Parts: sequence; C-alpha cells; structure tokens
Amino acid sequence: MTKFQMDLAKLEREPIHTQNLIQPHGVLLVLQEPDLEILQVSENISFILKIAPEIAVGKTLGDILDPFQVERLKTGLSSENFDYINPTKVWVRTGGDDFVVFDAVFHRNVDGLLILELEPAISQENIPFLSFYHLARASINQLEETKNLREFCNIIVKEVRKVTEFDRVMLYRFDEDGHGVVLAEEKREDMESYLGLHYPESDIPRPARKLLSSNWIRLIPDAKAIAVGMYPPVNPQSGIIQDEPSINQPLDLTHSILRSASPCHLEYLHNMGVGSSLTISLIKEGKLWGLIACHHQTAKYVPYELRKACEFLGRVVFSEISNREETEDYDYRMRLAYIQSQLIDYMSEAENFVEGLVSYEPNILDLTNAQGAAICNNGQWTLLGKTPIEEDLDYLVQWLQRNVHEEIFVTDSLANYYPDADKYKDVASGLLAIPISQRNYLLWFRPEVIQTVNWGGNPSKAYEHSHSQGTLRLSPRKSFELWKERVRLTSLPWKKVEIQSALELRKAIVNIILKQADELAQLARDLERSNAELKRFAYVASHDLQEPLNHVSNYVQLLEMRYEDKLDVSGKEFIGFAVAGVSLMQNLIDDVLAYSKVDLQGAEFTLTDANVALERALNNLQSSIRKSKAEITCHNLPTVMADSTQLMQMFQNLIGNGIKFRSQRSLTIEINAERLDDSWLFSVKDNGIGIEPQFSDRIFVIFQRLHTRDEYPGTGMGLAICKKIVECHRGNIWVESELDQGATFYFTIPVGGKRDRRDGR
Ligand code: ADP
Repeated sequence: MTKFQMDLAKLEREPIHTQNLIQPHGVLLVLQEPDLEILQVSENISFILKIAPEIAVGKTLGDILDPFQVERLKTGLSSENFDYINPTKVWVRTGGDDFVVFDAVFHRNVDGLLILELEPAISQENIPFLSFYHLARASINQLEETKNLREFCNIIVKEVRKVTEFDRVMLYRFDEDGHGVVLAEEKREDMESYLGLHYPESDIPRPARKLLSSNWIRLIPDAKAIAVGMYPPVNPQSGIIQDEPSINQPLDLTHSILRSASPCHLEYLHNMGVGSSLTISLIKEGKLWGLIACHHQTAKYVPYELRKACEFLGRVVFSEISNREETEDYDYRMRLAYIQSQLIDYMSEAENFVEGLVSYEPNILDLTNAQGAAICNNGQWTLLGKTPIEEDLDYLVQWLQRNVHEEIFVTDSLANYYPDADKYKDVASGLLAIPISQRNYLLWFRPEVIQTVNWGGNPSKAYEHSHSQGTLRLSPRKSFELWKERVRLTSLPWKKVEIQSALELRKAIVNIILKQADELAQLARDLERSNAELKRFAYVASHDLQEPLNHVSNYVQLLEMRYEDKLDVSGKEFIGFAVAGVSLMQNLIDDVLAYSKVDLQGAEFTLTDANVALERALNNLQSSIRKSKAEITCHNLPTVMADSTQLMQMFQNLIGNGIKFRSQRSLTIEINAERLDDSWLFSVKDNGIGIEPQFSDRIFVIFQRLHTRDEYPGTGMGLAICKKIVECHRGNIWVESELDQGATFYFTIPVGGKRDRRDGR
C-alpha cells in the first residue's frame, strides 16, 4: 500500500462525529438532568450569549434563561418524543434589555446526555409554515401528473429550490458500487450544469455516509466559518469506561445539528466553489439511496423549521420515488413472471429439466434478457445463443466453484473479477450465474457495450497530496471539470427483476431435481423390493418343489423295484416316462435357482484372468468335449474386472451349447477377445447347426428353445443366465449366425469394471 492509499483508507475510517467541533453560528450546551446543569458548552457562548464558558459551566440553564421558559422546557423534556418541543423559541438576555431569539433544539446522544443547540431564529415566523405548505402542495399536485421517475425528480429539485432559494439543488443517487450520479438539477442559469455527472464513492467517505443515514438533514450555513471547540474539551461525564474512569471518550455528536463538517469535506466544498450546503438524505429500506444536495455560492442560513419541512418532504416524496421505481418495472416483471411459469411447466413435463429450459418458446434467454445462456448438467454443456466455447466455460465454472458460495453471482463486468473473461468480452462481459449444485450451473451472458461516463473531475484523482504548514496531507481534487471516461469490458446492467427471476428459477429447478431424485429413489426401492420377492420366491419354489418331487421320484423307483415282475411292457415304459419327467423337472428347478442367484449384490468383482475362468469351464465340460471330439482353441484372453465364477459360467454355457448344437462336421470352437475403446469384446465361435437370424433375440429369453427335447436336451435357461450375468457386468450379449453356418456369440465386459458405465466417469 502506498502512503496515498493508506491516507485514503484512513479517510474511510476517520470518525467525524466525535471531533468535538461546532459550527460557530449556534451554541451547543451539554446538560445534566434533572436540574439542567451545564456540563459543557461550545466556546462561542461568550461571543453569542456574552457569558464566559468557564462561568457558564456549573451553572444551570435557569441561570441563563428566565424561570418561566425553563419550566416550559422541562415539561417538554419529560416527554420521550422531543418532536413536540423542537424547535422552541427562547429569549436570552445578552446584557441590559437586549434579548436575542433562538431556536432551541434538544436531543439525547448515545451516552444519554441531554444536548441543547441554540440557533439564531429568523424573525418572520410565518414563513416556514407557508413555505412548507407551498412546497408540499405544489409537489404533491405535480406528482400525480408526472410520467416517470426522472420527471418526478425534476419537480422535487425545482420545488426545493423555490422555497430554500439555494443557487443549485441536485438530486443525487448512489449506484450499487457506491458511486453517485446527478439525476436532476435546478440551478442559477449562469452556473455550469452538473446534471448526469458521476462522482466517485470516495467523495462521500463511509463515516460521512453513515452519518447521513442517521441524520437526515444537514446544514452547513457557512463553509468558510471557523469551527469552535468545546469547553471543557473533554466532557467529564460522557462515556466513562467502567473500571477505567480516567479514560474519557469524546462527546458523541452524531445527531447534532451544529456539528462541524470534517476539514476534508469543507475543503471539498470550497474547491467546488460552495459557500453553504444543505443535504437531505433519501433512505430506502434502511440504506442511503441518494441525497438532495443544495449548494449556495455564499453563506446561507435556513431556519430549522424550513429544514424540517424539507426533510419531511424528502421522506414523503421519496416513498413515492421508491414506488415509482418499482412500478416502472411492473410490466416487465409481469412478463418475466409469465416466462418463469412457462419454463417451470416445460421443465416438469420434460425428461430432463435442461430440455425444458432450451427447447421451447420462451426459453431461458427470455427470462433475463440475455444474449447467451449455458447450462452445465453433470459436466455436460447445453448452449443457447452467443456464449463462450465449452473449454472456456469449464474454466469459468471451476473459478465459480472456488470463488462463489452464494446462490447467485451477478456482474456487468466479469473481466473485473476474472481477467480471463477479457478474451470473450464480445459475448460475456456481463454474467449472471446460479449454482444449482456442485456440478450443475446455469449461466447467462451479455456482450460488452462500450459506455461513456461523465465524471465531475477525474475519479482516479479524487484526492491529492498537498503540503500545508510543512506537512503532507490528503486533500480533495481542485478540478471538478467534466472528465469523460470510456468504460470498456462492461455489459448493460442486470435489472433487479431479472436477478430475482433467475433466483426464483433456481428454486424451481432445485425442487424439480429433488422431486426427480425422490421418484428415482422410490423406483429403486420398488425394484429392490420386487427383486427380493423374486429371489425369495425362487428359493421357496425350488426348495418346496424339490421335496414333493423327491417323493414322486422315490415312489416311482419303489414301484419299479417292487412290482417289476407284475408290470407289463407299457407299465414299465410309463414308469420310464415318469422318471424322465421328474429328472427334467429337477434340471428346470436347478436352472431357475441358478438364474435367480445371478445378481449384482451377490457378484464379487475382482481382477479375473479370463484364461483361468475358461480353464475351469473346460474342466467341467471335459467328458462332453471328449465325446464330441471338439477341437477348442483360444487367443488373447485378458484379465478383466469381473466375478470369476460368473465368467466361468458364461464360458461353460456358451461352449456347452456349441458342443450340443454341433453339426455333422468335425467340431471346432474358437474363443477370442478383442480390446474396444472402453470394453473387452469376447467371442465364442462354433461351426455347428447355426441359428436363423430371426430368432437371434428370442434365444436369450428364459425357457425359449428352438428345438424339441427329443432333438436336443436342455431347459432353455442357459442363454438367459448368460444374459443376466453380462448385464450384471454392464456389458452386452448378442449372436451372429445363419442356419447351418455355425454361430458366434459375442459379449462385452467394460474395462474398468461395472462402475465405469453407470456413473459415466
Ligand atoms: P438350451 O441350450 O438349454 O436349449 P439355451 O438358452 O442355452 O437353452 O439356448 C436356447 C436355444 O438357443 C437353444 O435351444 C438353441 O435352439 C439355440 N442355441 C443356443 N446355442 C446355440 C448354438 N451354439 N448353435 C445353435 N443354436 C444354439
């Protein structure tokens, strides 16, 4: 930090409500209740009331005013609300028969001290009331006729100038970034205009803005007047810190009307050629929205009542300004509300919320009046209108993930925060971003619009160092001449209603996503339940069926043994049929059981050498291999993430079928594997009877066979089991064959195991 920056930062912190300096046109007294003993006075009491401060301190107010007036004041002070006694006219004898009339204004400061401020009263008593009446009536009448905010502001400045007779009256509004702009101005004709000029944030430093928020009206009748101090300098009673009575805090003058402005502000006024100023704060929702600033080239006093009238006007009129501001956007807000409800309808009907946002009219571009929009849904981009390219968007989202933790990020100058945005300023100088979750973002873009801002003096030189009395200090700029700035890397600003609509859309999307997740979870639960029921059924069926089946088998065998001699040829044949039926049923039950056992939960995915799995399968099939004289070859089998038993079962079923469905040719079976992008492709090829292509799907369905059992034994479950196993591994299975041309069965196993496919990572 340079010294200059340090000084500027100090300016932002410097307390100005405790400087203990008073404007010299009035007298300030700190009183102790209930006797109204004088604890502290402004030093100019000797000049204005002709009493030396050291004599005044220790006396009571009754010693200065006559008892009748003091009694009246005390009655007023017993009420909590000082509005009824402020101001009270008081007469003070200044020696002999001379009286001076003052407006007496009371308040209690934060330390609970009673503060009385006496300002010289202006003689024509009716003027304030009449002025106020005119001011209010004229403004309120005209209010109804005005069409827009700007016109309305013009009327206010005109009326305020009429009654206060300042050389210049301006209505000044603060931007979001703290800079101010003159919205309306009424001035003496010979003076140059400040209308439309911008003033940097530092012109009204933070402590000053805080005071303007709590003290709604502020008069500096003579910017050149020399401020006076308090006697004694530190109030003996104020702000004594408990346990440390020796530390005295300065008198808090936040709500004082006589408090002197900071030297820097006085110098600022001086540099601007202002001799006196009156400032009326415009407060909206507790925040300083703007000011009505009145400037006069020479010193000028405005009586308390008229000031109060201006303050009142400021409040009444300003509530109208706020309403106007809001109703100006009414039609637009209604339109956005309509678009929003359309989008919500589309989203809830669409498969995926993204589709609902981009595929119809109106779409998300209409919601914020943006030229481009991008939706990031689990790392996938959907773009609409003019946007940066996906690669740049990836980086932008990474930056947002690190830096934005709120529900929304809005800027009309992205490059200010994120310098890389400079390169796509033509599409995205303005950004409105809403994070929906860590991996889901909605972004709207606006292009750069080069604007010219007129400043009242160069804003980057708002303050300069100057030498005074041998020390270097910070002082406001001397020149307020028009200084034009071309603002680049900035888009048109996002309106409050647009931001609000984006936020509401966010809520709707979050709700839809949550609802979809809920539905999915419900579906998963239903599936799990029906799966579990199926497994239980298969188990119970196989178990419970096996028992009576064994009975049948045993008794048929008993029949055969005991009554062999008594049975004729047909009887024996029938018993033979019964035995065969029972054994087929046993096979069917075993296969159904095997099928029901193939499931994800039961599978153990480990690195499995396919050669080993094949070896085990061939071992199980060795007798049929021997009988069929099959020539079995294999190549390039890899190691894969799989359940080894299930993989062995696959080979066994496929090779078993190859042997079973062999033709007259000498049987050859070839097992192969080939690496694809993200999976291994296995094939089992035979030269058997082949399959008509029209049946190539049907054979994978349970119990589906193409031949009678007399031709080829079997249950029709083998390929169904294979299909289920492959699906557990998130792979595919299919066959390529022609009748009598042999058949090749293919299946795939994902390279990284089953998780690869499902999560898409
Ligand atoms: P099963 O072998 O018990 O009949 P599968 O489910 O294994 O049951 O096979 C279903 C049907 O597919 C078989 O009945 C057969 O008609 C046909 N099939 C299976 N493998 C082959 C093959 N290698 N060659 C010709 N047809 C086959």
